[in-house]
Amino acid sequence: MRSRRPRSPESRQLGYLVNEEICRAPGCVACRVFGWHSGSRTVRIRGSLNRSPHGFEAGLFHPELGNEALGGRMFVAGIQLQFQSEAFSVEIPVASLAVEFEDGGKVVVFSDARNPEVRMFTRDQSILRHLAIRSLPGVASVLGRREATRALRLTLYFAAGCVLALWLGSLAMSLMARAVVARIPMEWEQKIGAREIEKLQKHGSLLDDPNSVAQLAALASPLIQALPAGRRDWKFYIANDRAPNAFALPGGYVVVSTGFLEMADQPEEILGVLAHELAHQTKRHAMRRCLAAAGPVVIFGLFIHSNSGMGNLLAAGSGLMVYEGFSKDYEMEADATGWNYLVAANIDPRGMIRALQKLEAWEGAPGLRPLAPEAFQSHPATEKRIARLESQWKKLGRKSDFLDLAPVKWTFKETVTN
Ligand SMILES: [Zn+2]
Repeated sequence: MRSRRPRSPESRQLGYLVNEEICRAPGCVACRVFGWHSGSRTVRIRGSLNRSPHGFEAGLFHPELGNEALGGRMFVAGIQLQFQSEAFSVEIPVASLAVEFEDGGKVVVFSDARNPEVRMFTRDQSILRHLAIRSLPGVASVLGRREATRALRLTLYFAAGCVLALWLGSLAMSLMARAVVARIPMEWEQKIGAREIEKLQKHGSLLDDPNSVAQLAALASPLIQALPAGRRDWKFYIANDRAPNAFALPGGYVVVSTGFLEMADQPEEILGVLAHELAHQTKRHAMRRCLAAAGPVVIFGLFIHSNSGMGNLLAAGSGLMVYEGFSKDYEMEADATGWNYLVAANIDPRGMIRALQKLEAWEGAPGLRPLAPEAFQSHPATEKRIARLESQWKKLGRKSDFLDLAPVKWTFKETVTN
């Protein structure tokens, strides 16, 4: 380490040249290009000490200066780190530099390992990128850690951005799908439902038992009256199926299996399941699922343009609409909406809970595997659904004076329509 005080502007011993003549010469390249003006003088650092003519803003602690820090600039000059101010100049060979970080890494402190009392410091972190500095022990590891932190932060930002974009995308798709579905004419849904009922009849799946069907329709009547206006026209069918099952088809068709009607001891249980299935249709879940399966490009196209092409899409997806299970979100919405229909119809909504408990027990029974009943399908979290509904019951303000429904005795006529 060397420290010297400048004695005169002409001194060349300080490691820099102060020469007023250079500045005053017309067209001085150093002045014009580098602009190294300092008051009326031009200060030129000998031998192009630093790539940046301005160096790094720095401070210096030195035994000769007492406890005060001296402000100046720091330069990396070849194999030396220099501190310069108007009155003081210090150089430390890079080879004997010790580096520390203070103030949470914001201040870089350089000292001479051979004379630790001389300390230069800067807040300008860009000095660490200088070739001679970044290879110093202690600097490389800090830069590595900072780079890793930065990379991690960037990755996290990117991941968060992707999640946000996906969420916004799915939200936009969902809103567009709803808007598109709202434009689908009811007659189209009726056609799809009617075609599926026809297929079930052809397969001999439906009972030709008008009395039982009338009983079912009469039982469902108070519930149907609680549905939104324009959604109160439903046709009932009984499927000849020992497995408990119930589903509603687009266009206002409800199919309930003999197995389910026999399993339900109380009419509220039947109405609970019906409320859930009707909610799937009033919320047009089948249509929304069909659109979702068609993909975002089709949804966007239908949203922007007209209904052209939607007919083909729905015809192609009608199987999907009718017999595929619903997503967890749709199931939850159907439970919540159905529950509200029951409450609005003054029907004890606990029937929905009891029906689910029975369905769960049936699902778990050995040797019995459901074929594809909607009432069970894609309801793997039946326990969760029951818990959710039980908490709904706890929150319900009115817990008595529900409709007094007489149990129905089912005697099915074992003939099928075709
Ligand atoms: Zn469902």
